[in-house]
Amino acid sequence: MLTVPALCWLCRMPLAISHWGICSCCRKALPVAPPCCPVCGLPAMVTTLPCGRCLQKPPPWQRLLYVTDYCQPLSAMVQALKFNQQTALARPLARLMLLRAREAQRESAFPRPDLLISVPLHRQRAWRRGYNQSALLAKPLARLLGCRYDERVLRRVRRTPAQHHLSARLRKKNLHDAFRLELPVRDLHIVIVDDVVTTGSTVGEIAQLLHRHGAATVQVWCLCRTL
Ligand SMILES: [Zn+2]
Ligand SMILES: [Zn+2]
Repeated sequence: MLTVPALCWLCRMPLAISHWGICSCCRKALPVAPPCCPVCGLPAMVTTLPCGRCLQKPPPWQRLLYVTDYCQPLSAMVQALKFNQQTALARPLARLMLLRAREAQRESAFPRPDLLISVPLHRQRAWRRGYNQSALLAKPLARLLGCRYDERVLRRVRRTPAQHHLSARLRKKNLHDAFRLELPVRDLHIVIVDDVVTTGSTVGEIAQLLHRHGAATVQVWCLCRTL
């Protein structure tokens, strides 16, 4: 039987391993994120210690990892995953996050995650889209890491209006009580998976909730961090 080789999502060349989605050349050509603070992920001179901002006012999570800044080609892939039903992209994108996490682990060791969670959508939005893109990323990522993923841990109980035009203070108010924990997280090392982190207010709200319930550490892993 003749099988059609899968093509690289970016350069359209046949792939050696079809489910990788992106060939190794294109992966190596992805823009490299600038040196950044391991805690907030914003550009910094030192990459092994928290930056001045984080020392003064630590974010509610302990480490933030991302593959690249919000720029091409990853931004287009995220858009395709999120808005164009290109759900087959989730697995190759999850693999990029895994490779980044392995690299970060070599730079500075961090507790192995026990549990991955994704940022939940309100059920109305999830129903309209048909899926939650961060859940699509978290599931294969947990499988690759050999750790637990449970969609039931966190629930969005309140629908929050779009955030992008709000000030930091209003974003916080907007998110207050938007999420609820449904399963215990005490003493667990947790990773919150999201596609894009902009101001960090959503993942920050979730991280606070996890810490209030006794989580040991909270990390945020995303594909793109807007810098
Ligand atoms: Zn390629
Ligand atoms: Zn920082």
